[in-house]
Amino acid sequence: MNVQKIMTSLEAKHPGEKEYLQAVHEVLESIEEVYNQHPEFEKARIVERIVEPDRIFTFRVNWVDDNGDVQTNLAYRVQFNSAIGPYKGGLRFHPSVNLSILKFLSFEQTFKNALTTLPMGGGKGGSDFNPAGKSDEEIMRFCQAFMLELWRVIGPDTDVPAGDIGVGGREIGYLYGMFKKLAREHTGVLTGKGITWGGSLIRPEATGYGGLYFVQHMLHKAGKNIEGKRIAVSGFGNVAWGAAQKATQLGAKIVAISGPDGVIEIPNGMTFEMIDYLLDLRASNRDIVSPFAEKFPESKFTAGKKAWIVPCDIALPCAFQNELNGDDAKHLIANGTWCCAEISNMGCTPEAIKEFQDAKILFAPGKAVNAGGVATSGLEMTQNAMHISWGAQEVDDRLHQIMENIHHACVQYGTQPEGYVNYVKGANVAGFMKVATAMLEQGIV
Ligand code: GLU
Repeated sequence: MNVQKIMTSLEAKHPGEKEYLQAVHEVLESIEEVYNQHPEFEKARIVERIVEPDRIFTFRVNWVDDNGDVQTNLAYRVQFNSAIGPYKGGLRFHPSVNLSILKFLSFEQTFKNALTTLPMGGGKGGSDFNPAGKSDEEIMRFCQAFMLELWRVIGPDTDVPAGDIGVGGREIGYLYGMFKKLAREHTGVLTGKGITWGGSLIRPEATGYGGLYFVQHMLHKAGKNIEGKRIAVSGFGNVAWGAAQKATQLGAKIVAISGPDGVIEIPNGMTFEMIDYLLDLRASNRDIVSPFAEKFPESKFTAGKKAWIVPCDIALPCAFQNELNGDDAKHLIANGTWCCAEISNMGCTPEAIKEFQDAKILFAPGKAVNAGGVATSGLEMTQNAMHISWGAQEVDDRLHQIMENIHHACVQYGTQPEGYVNYVKGANVAGFMKVATAMLEQGIV
């Protein structure tokens, strides 16, 4: 395999799709060595096939706002790879959504889902619809109009969407209601459902909890402990909430959270009351974090700054792709940070990852660290298919086991001769080997 040649050809075919090209480049770089040890992969042109989605649906969504004005949004579903199971991955509603972002997310999802050990392929979808400031009725009308287009291409054994940024329990409810009406069936076609109608306990917490289980294993391997450590988190949505909750339960201190408007510093660490307030803040639909400091005077808001200005032991990006850049990484390292784990998808830029790896600090990528969310979606699918529901402890135990297995796979494939674990390489190689082998065995399709 010649990484540069493949990248040049992809750049020519998909000009300007920078997030997608970034995600592909990272994977190809990590797998080059193992790929070249498998001439059967080269012969079947696995790399050329694995970097392109199976298919993409693009559609227009029209809906009427509260003023009676007609609104038009663009929407997509990328069905990336189904070698090991039905397409699986979330829906993102955010003004930044475009094809490049959804292709990068569904490409990453393919390997992430493979790492969970559950039978799920990779997909992702969404729209440039901005939920911020919309009324509940507007959200419902948009979700219904979106599902009117999407329903024909999804199904419990075909493609199973879920939440992502801008799509939480409320949106999944509206989407599911419309699917059920159109398809006239009550099946596990979406995950993240309400607990009384097919959802799984622990699913809302799962991405953050799983992230912290992974961090615990990383720290343990490095002979360290999470208790008393200062953690900076970016974001204040569902993922940040779950991460803050589990970290605090484990005895760590959340000293920073952030939003698009700035950062909140909490020198003594967040209390459980503060953590629960994140849910109210998110439900207010304003996408700002500053009201936190008005409610809790022991915290401090700084406008226009990121969570990475706050001195911490562990940095946990929990919001967006590329939210931590090379300068942020340098700043964190200078401030004494010795661990960074992406709970957001591709939270760090390649420059930031290089800074962390060159400094030999613990760094793990989103496709391993945040896989607990989709893994618990997989457990929701299992419960739906069996028509039963498990208790919280059972789901949490399974989640914990899955995260331990993912950590183990990363160590197995990512340990360098001198002992440093390159978790990026470990996650990419482990995920790739599974998907590539399945593709090989299924022939040229
Ligand atoms: N959007 C989440 C992710 O990035 C969850 C996907 C799912 O549960 O299907 O993995």
